[in-house]
Amino acid sequence: MAEVLVLVEHADGEIKKVTNELLTLARTLGEPSAVLLGGSVASLAEKLGEYGAQKVYVAESADLDDYLVAPKAEVLAQIVADTSPTAVLVASSAEGKEVAARAALRSGSGLITDAVGVSSDGETTQGIFGGAIAVQAKVTKGIPFITVRPNSTAAEPASGAAEVVTVTPNISDAAKGAKVTERVVEAKGGRPDLAEAAVVVSGGRGLGGAEHFDLIEKLADSLDAAVGASRAATDAGWYPHQNQVGQTGKTVSPQLYIAVGISGAIQHRAGMQTSKTIVAINKDPEAPIFELADFGMVGDLFDVVPQLTDEITKRK
Ligand SMILES: Cc1cc2nc3c(=O)[nH]c(=O)nc-3n(C[C@H](O)[C@H](O)[C@H](O)COP(=O)(O)OP(=O)(O)OC[C@H]3O[C@@H](n4cnc5c(N)ncnc54)[C@H](O)[C@@H]3O)c2cc1C
Repeated sequence: MAEVLVLVEHADGEIKKVTNELLTLARTLGEPSAVLLGGSVASLAEKLGEYGAQKVYVAESADLDDYLVAPKAEVLAQIVADTSPTAVLVASSAEGKEVAARAALRSGSGLITDAVGVSSDGETTQGIFGGAIAVQAKVTKGIPFITVRPNSTAAEPASGAAEVVTVTPNISDAAKGAKVTERVVEAKGGRPDLAEAAVVVSGGRGLGGAEHFDLIEKLADSLDAAVGASRAATDAGWYPHQNQVGQTGKTVSPQLYIAVGISGAIQHRAGMQTSKTIVAINKDPEAPIFELADFGMVGDLFDVVPQLTDEITKRK
């Protein structure tokens, strides 16, 4: 069966959920093999079998961690040249897209970024103009390199042999042009990661100021949720940009998305419209977010949100 390579995203010794999604997707295209790159990563190989990886190509080198994306792209291209896979799937993270683009170029292959679906014949679906239009595309040259947005597919476990194939990375001096000199661990707090959370509570301009985001945080904490924000809120400096949901922010697809004081502009929808259940709280009954919402509450968020938080907390 044709081999499909999945580049593993990992951090702090954990495999990211998006990798399990890509392995699930890869099973519809052929036989999934994972590509595990990093300084000391071999211990993660076994876990990849839980989502169907039949082989795990493990390339260990401190250079893969110590320099920016170029070494990873070189090693990925090296594994692609050795294995001639049917396709290469990479997460649509900032790093993933850069690694995929560089590796595709080295392999003389075409690249499609930000796919939200890939059919069994390799045809991809991308949402453009803020998700208003779906585009079907297919790579026509070389081996298709496809970056897939997180939360596009539900990860489904499947057993795979996860046979480890050790790869000796060949990293050129040219790939070592930009060295990582320091890593600062971002203060995370106790909330789940926005892109991976099962529940997301987002606040918008309706909050009226940074000081009111504690309403959103309290509601989020009552639901063990991640906090998101509209661009209006992040541009105003009320909440960090890394929490922005939307076309130019993160794409989320949780089980439950609660939009508070957010109008539902097309660029915001682009980042959350695939959420399973959408709840909107807005004082304007004509707000476009209600067109998308499964449940809507027309009311002043300053009345509704504290009551909602209290009720949820009481029932926990
Ligand atoms: C190229 C481009 C990319 C963009 N990317 C993004 C993106 O990634 N993410 C994103 O979010 N936006 C993005 N935008 C911006 C987007 O067009 C909207 O401007 C933005 O989403 C609006 O944010 P908002 O809904 O918080 O604010 P508004 O549109 O001002 O809506 C505020 C809402 O709060 C309600 N409200 C006010 N007071 C209360 C109250 N007391 N109680 C209840 N409800 C209340 C109002 O009725 C209103 O519906 C982008 C725009 C462009 C041009």
